[in-house]
Amino acid sequence: MATHKTRMLIIGSGPAGLSAAIYGARAMMEPIVVQGLQPGGQLTITTDVENYPGFKDVIQGPWLMQEMQAQAEHVGTRMMWDTIVDVDLSGPTFRATGDSGDVYEGDTLVIATGAQAKWLGVPGEQELGGKGVSACATCDGFFYRGKKVAVIGGGNTAVEEALYLTNHSDDVTLIHRRDELRSEKILQERLFANPKIKVLWNKTVEQFAGDPLAGGLTHLVLKDTVTGETSDFAADGAFVAIGHAPSTELFKGKLPMDAGGYLIVEPGTPKTEIPGVFACGDVMDHTYRQAVTAAGTGCMAALDAERYLSGLSIDLSGHAKEAEAAE
Ligand code: FAD
Ligand code: NAP
Repeated sequence: MATHKTRMLIIGSGPAGLSAAIYGARAMMEPIVVQGLQPGGQLTITTDVENYPGFKDVIQGPWLMQEMQAQAEHVGTRMMWDTIVDVDLSGPTFRATGDSGDVYEGDTLVIATGAQAKWLGVPGEQELGGKGVSACATCDGFFYRGKKVAVIGGGNTAVEEALYLTNHSDDVTLIHRRDELRSEKILQERLFANPKIKVLWNKTVEQFAGDPLAGGLTHLVLKDTVTGETSDFAADGAFVAIGHAPSTELFKGKLPMDAGGYLIVEPGTPKTEIPGVFACGDVMDHTYRQAVTAAGTGCMAALDAERYLSGLSIDLSGHAKEAEAAE
C-alpha cells in the first residue's frame, strides 16, 4: 500500500480524463489518472468512430483511446490500475482511496468517471446476463453468428448496435417503445436501408425468458404500448441499449447532483461547488455525451485546475514529485 501525491488527481480514463491529463501534464501538474474498471472508457466497447475530429477515415474506438493514453503518458501522465472506492473532499488536499488500498492525494481533483449502461430491470435480465442478454454488441455479437438477435432501444447506441450486429447475423430486430427513433438521422437512414434489420415499434420488453443453465435465452415477452397485448418474440441474443447512467455513487452526499445523478457544475465551466474539484465529460453532461465534448470539458477542467493552483498562495514546489511512502 502506498500514498501517491500529485497536483492533479484524475479519476477516470475516458476521453475526458485523458484530455485533462494531456493538458495537465503539459502545464507541469504531473497528473495521476486512476483508470477504473474500464480503461479508456466507453469508446473501448464500440467499433467505428466517424465523428471524432481529425480523422478523414473511420477509426476504431479502442484504437483512439490507446492513442489518447499514449499521448497522455508521453507528456508525463502516470496511469494507475486501480478503482477508487472512497473520496474525501474536505480539502485542501483531496484524498481518494483505491480498492488496492493505495491512497491518492491531489491538490486538485478532476472527476471524469463517465457513465455506465442502464438495464431494463425486468425479470430474466440479470439471470440471463451473459447467457443471451448483453449490453454490448461489439463485445458479445460474435457469439451470435448466424443467430437471431434483438436490440432494445431507439437512440444512437441501439441503432449502432443493430447495424454492427449485421456483421454477424442476418436476422436483427430493433425493438423500440415508441414509433420514432431518437437517434441521428444519418444512422436511421442506414438502419432502414439495411435488409437484415427489422424494427418492432411500440413494444416494451416485459421479460427475458429461457434457462440460464441450459441453452440460455429463448425468447422475449413483449407488450404493445398501444394495444396492451403481450406476445413472445423468439431470440438467441438480446442487446439492451437504452442509455447510460452517470457513475456518481462515490460522490453521493459529497457533491450536488441533479435528479438523474449527474454532477452539477457552474454553468459553462467544469467547476463543482468545492473549489479545486472539477467534473468533466459524461459524468456532468446529460445533454451532449460525445467523445469530443468529453475531451473538451476535460481540457477545461485542466485549465481551471491550473488557474486554481496559481491562485493559491501556498508553495507547491516539489509537491508534484512522487512521494510514494510505502507503509
Ligand atoms: P467514459 O468514457 O464513460 O469513461 C469513464 C472512465 O471513468 C472509465 O475509464 C472508467 O473506468 C472510469 N471510472 C469510473 N468509475 C471509476 C472509479 N470509481 N475509479 C476509477 N475510475 C473510474 N461518442 C462519440 O463522440 N462518437 C461515437 O461514435 C460514440 N460511440 C459510442 C458508442 C457506444 C457503444 C457508447 C456506449 C458510447 C459512444 N459514444 C460516442 C459516447 C462516448 O463514448 C462518451 O461520450 C465518452 O466516452 C464519455 O467520455 P468520459 O471520459 O466522460 O467517460
Ligand atoms: P439515449 O440517447 O439516452 O437513448 C436511449 C434510448 O433507449 C431511447 O430511445 C429511449 O427511448 C430508450 N429507453 C430508455 N429507457 C428505456 C426503457 N426503460 N425501456 C425501453 N426503452 C428505453 O442513449 P444512447 O443511445 O446510449 O446514447 C447516449 C449518448 O451517447 C447520446 O448522447 C448519443 O448521442 C451518444 N452516442 C453517440 C454515438 C455517435 O455519435 N455515433 C453513438 C452512440 C452513442 P425514448 O426514445 O422513448 O426515450
